Amino acid sequence: RPDIDGHHNHLNVTTRSMTRINQHQSPNNDNAKSKSTNDDKELTLKHMTFNFSLERISQEQKNDPEILRIRQQLLQKEFDKKNYVIENDVLYKIIQLPRAHTKFKIVFIPLTMQEEVISCYHDHPTAAHFGVNRTWLKVRTVCYWSNMKKSIHDYIRSCEKCAKFNIRRTAPPGHLHPIEYPQGPLELISMDFWGPTPQYSTNGNKYVLIITDYYTKYVIACPLPNNTATSTAKSFVEQFVFKFGIPRRLVTDQGVHFNNELMQNLTMLLGTNHIQTSAYHPQSNGLVERFNATFHPQLSKLYNAELNDWDDYLAPVIYAYNTGEHSTTGYSPFQLMFGRYPILPINHTPATFKFNRPSDYWMKLIKCMNVYRQVASKKILVHQQQSKQRFDKNREDPQYEINDLVFYKVPGHRPKLEERFSGPYTIINKQHPSYTIQNNHSLTSKRVHVSDLKLVYQRHI
Ligand SMILES: [Zn+2]
Repeated sequence: RPDIDGHHNHLNVTTRSMTRINQHQSPNNDNAKSKSTNDDKELTLKHMTFNFSLERISQEQKNDPEILRIRQQLLQKEFDKKNYVIENDVLYKIIQLPRAHTKFKIVFIPLTMQEEVISCYHDHPTAAHFGVNRTWLKVRTVCYWSNMKKSIHDYIRSCEKCAKFNIRRTAPPGHLHPIEYPQGPLELISMDFWGPTPQYSTNGNKYVLIITDYYTKYVIACPLPNNTATSTAKSFVEQFVFKFGIPRRLVTDQGVHFNNELMQNLTMLLGTNHIQTSAYHPQSNGLVERFNATFHPQLSKLYNAELNDWDDYLAPVIYAYNTGEHSTTGYSPFQLMFGRYPILPINHTPATFKFNRPSDYWMKLIKCMNVYRQVASKKILVHQQQSKQRFDKNREDPQYEINDLVFYKVPGHRPKLEERFSGPYTIINKQHPSYTIQNNHSLTSKRVHVSDLKLVYQRHI
């Protein structure tokens, strides 16, 4: 990952990336778009160098009108010097993050480099195509430009991978009945499976067991060759219990039979079992479903990008997730689980504390955790109310026009890892809510319902 912090001088980073050179072309220029994943695979395993050196930033800043204007105003002393600083011919913005006590300087990214920065924090394997908010929360701690959130929004909206894989989060029928919310970590753990992939990975895996701590949102993902209760119990005990402790409640989406077998296995492995196990009901546990829905698309994108060795990339993707700020709690899952900041391979050095006795650390940790959890609990409560309101509101009713480009939702039974939308298609007839769409590649057309369509946003460069 690039280091864009002003404290270091060597900022060139080479990363193996799932870069798609042609991924972000305008969708209507030719048929190259709708080619199969074979082409994708050839482009996937490229090595990509991000050059975010201060030398380059300084050079490109010199051609950026906004930056030139700010520099000019700084020189003429017309400008608030608390917010900007120039060092070694590079313009920095001085920022203070919410709930942080110290200010620090971050590089002002010129217009010409903004897309590259977003790409690094969105398309890179350790970024895993996360959404606008999560991407923004990360980028804003390492660099700055005006209307950053809007450009990240525009970039991600026009990301074809995201458009095809992300589960639509608008209004499935039925109102939300929030489950009783856990009051702390390890009170409620959910487990579910992603997969199977069509073939085994080179490491021999077909599934991912996703273990989530409900309260902190901390995720552990174990690639597995199968989804039997035996291997689930083994992974759960080794990867979760022996690292975090025994949780109180466990929910799975695998049904009663599986859970009974899981219980037997856990009892055998742990000697005793105080864990309450239950299968969740999609209707009453809407939040579990929604939470899982945010993670499966990331795994599908990873799978489609890396195919045979997707599981080699699982750890960095999960790490990226755990260290990113979660919009529900306002903290990263890592912070809530461990009571300290994760040390990321990017930016500023973490604060250091001096303790006289070893027990001081424990006291400090408890204090930190109490503050974190109080704030997080409040935010969770507000968020729960808000998401219920949002969820219960009526479905949107978008209309499309002739010549609009759309993706079409693949009908019927869809395993979790398949692409959910195909296309792009062109609207050739409109009788809302019915539309006739034409495949841009094969030129065949079909009549579809508006609810199966999704607009293609084009990237304007
Ligand atoms: Zn994306």
